[in-house]
Amino acid sequence: MELQPGTELLGLGIGDTAVRAEVFRLKSRQRANPSVRVGTASEETERLTRAIRSVAENLEQLSENPTAANADILQALAQLVTDPELLRVATAHIEAGMSATSAITAATEEFAALLSGDSFLEERANDLRELGMEVIAKLNGLDSPELPTTDVVIVAEDLSPAELARFGSNVVGVVLQGGGPTSHTAIMLRSMGLAAVIGCRGASQLVDGQQVLLDPAGDRVLVDADLSLATKAIQLIAKNPEPLIPVRANVGSLADAIRASTTSASGVGLLRTELLYLNSQRMPTLMEQTESYREMFAASPEGPIVVRTIDVSTDKPVPFLTTDYGDLVSPGYTLLRDNRAFLAEQLASIEAARLASGREVWVMAPMIQSSAEALDFAELARSCGEFKVGVMVEVPSLIQELGDLGDEIDFVSVGTNDLSQFLFETNRLAPLSPELLSPWQPKLISALREIADQCTSQGLQSSVCGESASDPVFAIVLAGLGFDSVSTANSQVAAVSSSLSAVSKLEASGLAALALSADSASEAKAKVLAGLRDLGLGS
Ligand code: PEP
Ligand code: MG
Repeated sequence: MELQPGTELLGLGIGDTAVRAEVFRLKSRQRANPSVRVGTASEETERLTRAIRSVAENLEQLSENPTAANADILQALAQLVTDPELLRVATAHIEAGMSATSAITAATEEFAALLSGDSFLEERANDLRELGMEVIAKLNGLDSPELPTTDVVIVAEDLSPAELARFGSNVVGVVLQGGGPTSHTAIMLRSMGLAAVIGCRGASQLVDGQQVLLDPAGDRVLVDADLSLATKAIQLIAKNPEPLIPVRANVGSLADAIRASTTSASGVGLLRTELLYLNSQRMPTLMEQTESYREMFAASPEGPIVVRTIDVSTDKPVPFLTTDYGDLVSPGYTLLRDNRAFLAEQLASIEAARLASGREVWVMAPMIQSSAEALDFAELARSCGEFKVGVMVEVPSLIQELGDLGDEIDFVSVGTNDLSQFLFETNRLAPLSPELLSPWQPKLISALREIADQCTSQGLQSSVCGESASDPVFAIVLAGLGFDSVSTANSQVAAVSSSLSAVSKLEASGLAALALSADSASEAKAKVLAGLRDLGLGS
């Protein structure tokens, strides 16, 4: 039954600007008849090799487009699909009698199965399945559906970063039935500045051609409603020349660093280093690593550069590192401790790049679980270079132990993406209840207060670099809780800097107290927005 005009479908909004356009449903790709074999084994292998190459070339071409929002993700996908091991396994299936289509399906499933069971790796498994579907489409002449050229709101169950990257400027919004606010796809939607509502269960009822009002500030989609009904995002009036606390940028590649330098970011608050190592069959040499870091440091905006050592738990296992940890959800720092020579070499190359670039460099380790792990990292980092040394707080068990770290480390940076998923035992990539991953959840806000208080009493500098810091209003709460800086997506540096220029320290503390007094995420957000209006700071 078609939805009535005015029907409201709830989800989680990304962005503030409402859009109205026709729905275009992106259907799951058509499946080809898998068992039809069109040639001999060597002809099938040749066809498969060509199809894989063509998918990879397509991704590479997209990544070379100067306006590509996430060139690094596209390049990583191109590397994933051309992994020689994938072709080797598929070829063995072809030689055993399978068609190219069945062989690539079986090979991607085998690889995906190796990655599943660990919630952190599931997104990689999904990427791999998506890529397998693209190869099958190429093999069978069933290329991706043509997108319309008129303005549309894309509605889908979920989207991979590669699918998102294909959208042209006529795609004005995205509605996803699934997805979480801190998934890869959500991070990319935010960096593309595309309005979206994700985790919107009712989206399955939307049909092609139906007009919708996508209202991210209201966390909803309204069927056939006028733009005048859109929730007005609060307009904060910047009154101070500088933000209350420094706003830094999150960077994952050279292209990101270059983009960050065009913003007002005061340095880099999170340099994710994983991309340098993904899919490397061998460990890059010290010189290769040094050169990559030197280029990124030189391109980064002025200010300190906070480099995070490799975070293996959120990515595919890096081929040259030991990664067999059985059922452990996340090996975390254990993996780095077990691969100490690699960690020491990564730190040594960061030090060499620091010296070559003349930049101020801080280093921090992800997924630290205890003060003992933090001490181990600090000792190693200090023996490798002249850095400020810190750790990420993203595993709740570390919060209780921050009191032991005042004399041992210099700073902490909170990874709210992982911290939320651990606090609520909810997979951040495919959450059953995406609203639990909203930064406004009272349980997260009180954990943040505890972290900020511990840091103040221990004399540790504190920052937040998870996606929560990219929300301009939530960033005010973070400043009010006592954090010393925030680090945001490139696309959010301007909005967050402007909101943090609208408040005094006292006002931010009062607003943080309002957030802390709420019993639910929606109440916390509503109380802070009302507080800003009562203070005459926003309209
Ligand atoms: C986080 O967990 O908040 C974080 C910044 O790290 P990542 O998103 O890379 O896991
Ligand atoms: Mg993390």
